[in-house]
Amino acid sequence: MESKKTVRVLKSAGEMQAAAEKLRHERKKIAVVPTMGYLHRGHASLIERAGSLADIVIVTVFVNPAQFAPNEDYARYPRDFEHDKAIIQAAGADIIFYPDVKEMYPDGFGSYVEVEKVTKILEGKFRPEHFKGVTTVVAKLLNITKPHAAVFGQKDAQQAFVIQKMIKDLNFDVQIILAPIVREEDGLAMSSRNSYLNEAERKNALVLFRSLQYAEKQIRQGEKSVELLREEMMKIILSGNPTQVDYTAFIDPVDFSETDNLNQSEILVALAVRFGTTRLIDNIIIPINS
Ligand code: AMP
Repeated sequence: MESKKTVRVLKSAGEMQAAAEKLRHERKKIAVVPTMGYLHRGHASLIERAGSLADIVIVTVFVNPAQFAPNEDYARYPRDFEHDKAIIQAAGADIIFYPDVKEMYPDGFGSYVEVEKVTKILEGKFRPEHFKGVTTVVAKLLNITKPHAAVFGQKDAQQAFVIQKMIKDLNFDVQIILAPIVREEDGLAMSSRNSYLNEAERKNALVLFRSLQYAEKQIRQGEKSVELLREEMMKIILSGNPTQVDYTAFIDPVDFSETDNLNQSEILVALAVRFGTTRLIDNIIIPINS
């Protein structure tokens, strides 16, 4: 059912902080959902999850320049605020924090938050400054929206791990909630970047989920060789004619380390693959029968 309440849009950090402070005084529980906009059903599921755990849901919409390298897609990243506002309203949120770049990074800005080690592998290897931009903006958004809980998607598994580490290491007083990946009917993980794909690339991109499903099936049937799994997954991915396979990684979700060991309780299999100029990521968490 469509929500009846009207969502409030705040653009200044000071105003947002004052509103959050007032809500906290009223003993309202606040949950925040940070996004870069161009919202889809995946984002809506996060907003609904936030609504199930809090009295007030704040959605932040901000394409964060600090997490894009100069050669990446910051300028062309899709933006459509009116569409986002309609989705946010329908998903039942109360406030949209929608700052411009100068509000978040005024002249003279010079403080960053950096998580070590885990930010250097996988995404961090291909996007060296990316996580520094992510943790900095998330730290700022948490200080601005003062939430009790923040909801992130499993779609960005490494990002979620890095944020959880930042929260723990720096004693942020906020509960992090992870929500599952929402997919298109044919299995493609929803992403704002899917809008870059042409028809052939969109079809070819299905090899990502197919390769993850292959790994899941084999592991559930007792396969223990990461080398073999990676080889077969690679064949499936290459059949989709990608421009580049950045990685197919087997990760221990406990410490986010790459592993060849399929004897722990679960394994995260993560991919980053380019089709044309579009870089897509996807992943799956697979329980392991011992
Ligand atoms: P983004 O706007 O892409 O930065 O994503 C904002 C939040 O939505 C992040 O926590 C993402 O992990 C999450 N998200 C993006 N795509 C999906 C999806 N298909 N399913 C669930 N969550 C998602």
